[in-house]
Amino acid sequence: MRTAVEPLELLEPKTLGTALKMLRTKGPLTPIAGCTDVFVLLNFGTLKATRFLDLSRLGPLRRIRELGDVLSIGAGATYTEIIRSRAVRRRLPMLVAAAREIGGPQIQNRGTLGGNIANGSPAGDSLPVLAAAEAAVVLASTDGDRRVPFTQFYTGYRQSVMRADELIVAVEVPPVEGTQWFRKVGTRAAQAISKIVMAAVRAPTPRIALGSVAPTVVRLPRTETALAGGASVAQAQRVMLDEIKPIDDIRSTAEYRRRVSANLLARFWEQTGARG
Ligand SMILES: Cc1cc2nc3c(=O)[nH]c(=O)nc-3n(C[C@H](O)[C@H](O)[C@H](O)COP(=O)(O)OP(=O)(O)OC[C@H]3O[C@@H](n4cnc5c(N)ncnc54)[C@H](O)[C@@H]3O)c2cc1C
Repeated sequence: MRTAVEPLELLEPKTLGTALKMLRTKGPLTPIAGCTDVFVLLNFGTLKATRFLDLSRLGPLRRIRELGDVLSIGAGATYTEIIRSRAVRRRLPMLVAAAREIGGPQIQNRGTLGGNIANGSPAGDSLPVLAAAEAAVVLASTDGDRRVPFTQFYTGYRQSVMRADELIVAVEVPPVEGTQWFRKVGTRAAQAISKIVMAAVRAPTPRIALGSVAPTVVRLPRTETALAGGASVAQAQRVMLDEIKPIDDIRSTAEYRRRVSANLLARFWEQTGARG
């Protein structure tokens, strides 16, 4: 491992209350859940943190349950747990589709939804799903809980409204009416980071979210309004291409991302048409 030689400190709270107290009184601490992102950073020596808070023993953080008509997915739920959950399969199949394409089985067994959200990569595969589902992020601190609409959670590239003394404890998803659709485009099916990832819902007002085309995951309100107003796919594609501003980077070119985004929009519309 290429990280600093200095000793690393690990705090292992057994309850959420203790974890939140430790964050408030013993910080700064870097939370770790599955550690699949953190370990990569440690290995490359790019993470300067040396003090960590292990969340993996906090059972309640892994709970997936229906609270009234809200689906609550604990931040510590792994992709494997999400794939196996009947409630998620029934209510949010696009999240199951995303979970199946995240890493390989090893990553799916360790990686968590909360880790994907907090890591905040614009290519994070669960993020467009949560944006299209109009989910809320539940943040907890010793002061109590607060709920932030997912589309207001990020403030910039890997920046969010989460404070250093807060943890993501769950994601709450209201009922999603309409046909859900998910597609990830990467170099290969497994273990590849997305070049483009889209989640969408075919409803009277469609909802479309894209990853890897901006510093944060984005919804496409103008494209959604165009489709709701009866625009053709070709017209909606033009609106979309005006709405997104992808960049060239190590994984892809802006031009490729623009073309693939437009193709995915057409595919979404075509494949959900009969049921939409
Ligand atoms: C080989 C490999 C393949 C991968 N493939 C994919 C892929 O296909 N798609 C994809 O989207 N990602 C992929 N990833 C990235 C990673 O697995 C995911 O982002 C995963 O969801 C991270 O979850 P974790 O629990 O391991 O997070 P950790 O590594 O434990 O933490 C990640 C970040 O989140 C913070 N954090 C974790 N939990 C909380 C919490 N409850 N509250 C506040 N902060 C928290 C940590 O402090 C850290 O900053 C891959 C990683 C690897 C190594």
